[in-house]
Amino acid sequence: MNHFDKGIERIINKLQTDSYAIIRGDIICSCVDYATKQANPDCPKCLGLGRNLRIKSIKAAIRTSEGSFQNMAVDEKSVVYKGYMTERYSRLLSKDDVVVEGMNAYHVTKKSDKRSDSITPVYSVVFLAPKKKNPEKFVRKFYEVMNK
Ligand SMILES: [Zn+2]
Repeated sequence: MNHFDKGIERIINKLQTDSYAIIRGDIICSCVDYATKQANPDCPKCLGLGRNLRIKSIKAAIRTSEGSFQNMAVDEKSVVYKGYMTERYSRLLSKDDVVVEGMNAYHVTKKSDKRSDSITPVYSVVFLAPKKKNPEKFVRKFYEVMNK
């Protein structure tokens, strides 16, 4: 295992929590307005994401990216988060999918190509941005739908 793996492994083992991956499918949800292409944020099927969804339990350690606050002009909401997880989970996620951890929701912005050469386990980093539009409402709705 190389240095990167060891550091990531330590973070993941210590800090990972049970989270959910909300994976957007290819099918446009019936709530999406034909003219505006906007999804209904109250839709119980797509949670306002506008696509069919698959929900998976994952384990991830989500941390603020170091140095994000160095530039004080930067809006706090544009702070980058990194989700550390094993590749078994990260490979489920693509850009614009959503990760829910506790009462927080994050959009996947990109995946790091950093990965180990070892056979197992493989760790990776998923870059996340806090969901900006009504995150609390989204998370509440998510758990409501999950518990049905
Ligand atoms: Zn919908």
